[in-house]
Amino acid sequence: MALTPAQASDAIRKALPEFATQKVALAEACGRILRQSVVAERDQPPFDRVMMDGIALRFDAWRNDLRKFRIQGTQHAGDAVQTLSDEGGCIEIMTGAMLPRKSDCVIPVERIVVSGGIATVQKDYAASSRQFVHPQGSDHRKGQQLLDSGTAISPMEIAIIASCGLPEVSVSSRPVIRVISTGNELVPAGSAIAAHQVRLSNSPALAAMLTEHGFSDCRQEHIVDDPAQLRERLAKQLDEAAILILSGGVSMGKADYVPQVLADLGVRQVFHGISQRPGKPMWFGMGSRQQAVFALPGNPVSTLVCCRQYVLPALFAASGRTLEPQLHAVLSAEFTFEPKLTCFLPVRLSSRDDGVVVATPAPTNTSGDFTALSGTAGYVELAQEQRVFPAGLSVPLHLWDRP
Ligand code: AMP
Ligand code: MG
Repeated sequence: MALTPAQASDAIRKALPEFATQKVALAEACGRILRQSVVAERDQPPFDRVMMDGIALRFDAWRNDLRKFRIQGTQHAGDAVQTLSDEGGCIEIMTGAMLPRKSDCVIPVERIVVSGGIATVQKDYAASSRQFVHPQGSDHRKGQQLLDSGTAISPMEIAIIASCGLPEVSVSSRPVIRVISTGNELVPAGSAIAAHQVRLSNSPALAAMLTEHGFSDCRQEHIVDDPAQLRERLAKQLDEAAILILSGGVSMGKADYVPQVLADLGVRQVFHGISQRPGKPMWFGMGSRQQAVFALPGNPVSTLVCCRQYVLPALFAASGRTLEPQLHAVLSAEFTFEPKLTCFLPVRLSSRDDGVVVATPAPTNTSGDFTALSGTAGYVELAQEQRVFPAGLSVPLHLWDRP
């Protein structure tokens, strides 16, 4: 019996072991999944940091109506800290410098006039104690945990890792993936095509989706519908790769040899069939060396939905990645779906004035109609138990680019 989508996701996650970790240089870390915690090396800011180019003085002197200050010296960002020698003096300071000792007020350079070594502050200027000082430790303290294992590393996390003084970090290793199209009819772009043939589009799209999410070690292959060739090629791919993603050949047709050949090669079937449209015939199994084999139905819409719905989340889970919370959107119009299956309905997105995200159905003309997917943001999940989905109903939203 076919599993529900939730049961299928669960079965895949239980079967797939976690990927190993590896150390990578900071320059290679963006797009990877962090597999260590990152702890603050120092207070941030590490010292009372001057936030303006200007002069640093003692606020008591200002309070006593002093407005002319003798310039005692200059302190740039990166200079060792100086000490203000007396209340009548000031130190020229630049943004990013340490606040000079015994000073507690920064006056911006725009508010002063300098002449003959004296800085005179504008008459109407109002200063306050510790203004333009970013206090030591006010962003975070030394030893504070800044990043958790499981974080997806974006440029923002790169800044944090670098600020903690780490030249390299531990991340999930990238699995070796093979993306395999099956079918006699398929001809890749760039090759001559006959009337009875079909352009091969699934593996380029699958590889693009995987690469887009950091799984870049994926090679594309094509195998014809011949059991002997399938056996030979899949055996080799099972030797070489940790993850096989096939498309085509898993339905009930006479040339749908994939499940049988995989069984012959010792790949244990975990399930065959999910009560969903598109993608009902999806097959999943585990090889003898714990290789995960996703055999997706060949119809291009099914292939893309199944990759987004099952393959990517499984790869994220095996990468130790913390899952994003489920998003929702409201339907713009009533939608009816008769089959007793979960419906994954492609949608375009917009937002209402009140901030609610609205999903406008962009149904495909059969699951072969992949051109209709262009411009869709993802798809909504319509529950198996319901037939009519009214306008305004809030439903789970799956974005193509944010699994
Ligand atoms: P199958 O799942 O093998 O029965 O294929 C279902 C439909 O998807 C057929 O019309 C195939 O021609 C088409 N199809 C299968 N694989 C691909 C592919 N890699 N690229 C484009 N269309 C495909
Ligand atoms: Mg086929």
